[in-house]
Amino acid sequence: MKTQIMIVEDETAIVTLLRYNLEKEGFGLIETGDGEEALITASERKPDLIILDWMLPMLSGIEVCRRLRRQPATRNIPVIMLTARGEEADRIRGLNAGADDYVTKPFSPSELIARVKAVLRRVKPSADAETLTWGDIVMDLAAHKVRREDATVHLGPTEFRLLRHFMEHPGRVFSREQLLDAVWGADVYVEPRTVDVHIRRLRKALNMNDVPDPIRTVRSAGYALDYAQSA
Ligand code: CA
Repeated sequence: MKTQIMIVEDETAIVTLLRYNLEKEGFGLIETGDGEEALITASERKPDLIILDWMLPMLSGIEVCRRLRRQPATRNIPVIMLTARGEEADRIRGLNAGADDYVTKPFSPSELIARVKAVLRRVKPSADAETLTWGDIVMDLAAHKVRREDATVHLGPTEFRLLRHFMEHPGRVFSREQLLDAVWGADVYVEPRTVDVHIRRLRKALNMNDVPDPIRTVRSAGYALDYAQSA
């Protein structure tokens, strides 16, 4: 599937320029000139990256960016802000609102494409990887298989997604709510205790042969993939 880029810009000439250059690079496009619509479309279609103009009618790009960061469904989508204003203070405002990068108009298409690729590489280092490895655990994402110390680990679909999320962010502590958003999706209502049930299953599957438990329980905070301090 093509990498989907959402363009939020009301100036037709800029949209045309972006469309031509992004399509030439093989990206799929989603276009809107309206901030409110951008918020809805982003949470429904989950683009891989958003190019967001600062100057939009009704809702400013800065406000759209802040709201994207507040919704669990769109929180992790990278945003490149476009703006006609080049002052350092504006740049900082844009980055504080949660933008990943910032391009000043007028821009050269090749520079923008380079920024898009750089941001995609930075936020999705393992997007193209077929396998994830952490310690003695190997996940084959294409074949949907997990091995530990060369033995097959049998996981249900939810445990597989949980483990994948941990392996993509080793060492990081996730609360039950964060795991629900990441693994079950923000639109699904599930009791936070459900996370504990699936963590228990995941541990049981991973720890079959008296190997160290790779999942650390962090009291009143959540869980992390982290042997060193597991106790
Ligand atoms: Ca504009």
